[in-house]
Amino acid sequence: MSQDNIIAIIQARMGSSRLPGKVLRDLGGQSVLARVINRVRRAQTVTGVVVATTTDPADDPIAAFCQQQAVPVFRGSQFDVLDRYYQAAREHKADVVVRITADCPMIDPQEIDRVVTAFLEGEYDFAANRLPPPAQRTSPIGMDTEVCSFAALAQAWQNATQPYEREHVMPYLYDTPGRFRVKIVETEPSLGHLRFTIDTEEDLQVARAIYAVFDNRDDFSLAELLEQNMRHPQWQLSLAGVRHKSLTEVDTRAKEDKTEKATPAPQPEPAVPSCPLCGQQNARVLHRMQSFGFPVVYYHCQACGFVFQDAAASRAAQPDFYAENYRKLYQKSAAPTPKDLHQQLLRAADQIRFLRAQGVQSLSRVLDIGASSGLFLQALQKEFRAEGVGVEPGNAYRALAEAQGLHMLPSLPELIASRPERFDLVSLMHVLEHLPDPVGVLHQIRTELLTPQGWLLLEVPNFYAHNSYELAHLSCFTPHTLQEALSKAGYEIISLRQHGYPRSELFKLYLNVLAQPSANPPADYQVKPEHAVPLKRSLAIAWRDLRARLDSKRSWLPVEEK
Ligand SMILES: [Zn+2]
Repeated sequence: MSQDNIIAIIQARMGSSRLPGKVLRDLGGQSVLARVINRVRRAQTVTGVVVATTTDPADDPIAAFCQQQAVPVFRGSQFDVLDRYYQAAREHKADVVVRITADCPMIDPQEIDRVVTAFLEGEYDFAANRLPPPAQRTSPIGMDTEVCSFAALAQAWQNATQPYEREHVMPYLYDTPGRFRVKIVETEPSLGHLRFTIDTEEDLQVARAIYAVFDNRDDFSLAELLEQNMRHPQWQLSLAGVRHKSLTEVDTRAKEDKTEKATPAPQPEPAVPSCPLCGQQNARVLHRMQSFGFPVVYYHCQACGFVFQDAAASRAAQPDFYAENYRKLYQKSAAPTPKDLHQQLLRAADQIRFLRAQGVQSLSRVLDIGASSGLFLQALQKEFRAEGVGVEPGNAYRALAEAQGLHMLPSLPELIASRPERFDLVSLMHVLEHLPDPVGVLHQIRTELLTPQGWLLLEVPNFYAHNSYELAHLSCFTPHTLQEALSKAGYEIISLRQHGYPRSELFKLYLNVLAQPSANPPADYQVKPEHAVPLKRSLAIAWRDLRARLDSKRSWLPVEEK
């Protein structure tokens, strides 16, 4: 196998329905095509790289560029791209053909290697990291790699008759199940919503921004690209709505010279969601953003002032989100990082000081919801010699806690179904803001889990100091709306502490509450509205950022959050 001649054939044309000449446009000092060639050449499994363009005089600049750069170039049919590939592969004596398109200057050589390796190891006829729509893709747009044997390509070349089979080169190899041995190499978790290709002027602008972040080098990996992508949410945001061609769309330029316009379908506005705090359906959009490539919309309740995401539309409210994806998205790993553990230890010690200062003297049964790897639960058990139970949906974190001998359950419904003895402390550290129905869960804790004199301990980000806007933050609490949520759920607040520990000496990033079940919980609580929440938020964040510039040392302490 290692002696196979594995030829990557990059198809390139000057013509483009949306961005003519794109392959020779400048991308940080070199052309888009040069970037693609540089990157494909770094794939270790690939033994040769060939550019396949057409005999159309319009493509002379591509041929000239390749000759100037001493890159092998093949010129063939304009519209029978399958024939162009076959002839190029034959001329270069390919045993294995890797199909790459010239509009992917962020393609990862390691991703190419991953697909080629899967192809070779499984002795397949065809392998790819995605199929065209309607298949669901899991690799980012712009990493597309298709691999086939020369023998399979020759069969397709002989037998394929449909126009789309000739234009898209390899459909004949995968569109009839059982005809060839086919392998689809998936990406887990899926990154299919991300876009790193060049089809439009917007794409090119984003690609230039990406290259600029990497000092116009082209040796950055997909992992590095994903990391920068998280720090630059505007990249994917500016590309939202760019439509990709589907498999059966064929190039009609042979018949008519009509320029196709990108026409993103207008997104229908979803119905206004009901407020999770007061229940009224009277909210306006306050903030739109993309987080990890997902659209995020925050609403502002016009009745009570609460700021929230529509849980029904949020990726973070879907059932599987916390089991696997949440930690991976936020930390790029499903297991705790040393930084994460360190922060949990600091927080645990701080919370125990808070409990002691509020006069909590003895506890016999404690429940930590969102227990993570169990550090806080362990600290509580040790401090109060209490029996403890933890709830943690993240599989890897829960396994770690169980390995420490802690009693863990994956969800609150499963805990309640086990009819546990009541607890005299229930804690939710940085949990409430993630729940679609925070008041409902607080109510359920009071009525089903907490003893009548038990303690509720919780902490959430403070909307008036913490950035708060994150994919997984479904609610943004202010001191007022947090108090209202607790009152509505039937609690009396013993203490509401605003603090920044361990992140900041200056900013009250967190709202930390100790509460107890109310002796007379209201049957029908009327939420007292808070006014001018967006204005107060803007002023608070502006003030915070100004202070941060004046006193950066005390503003943000070295332990990083998340
Ligand atoms: Zn409301």
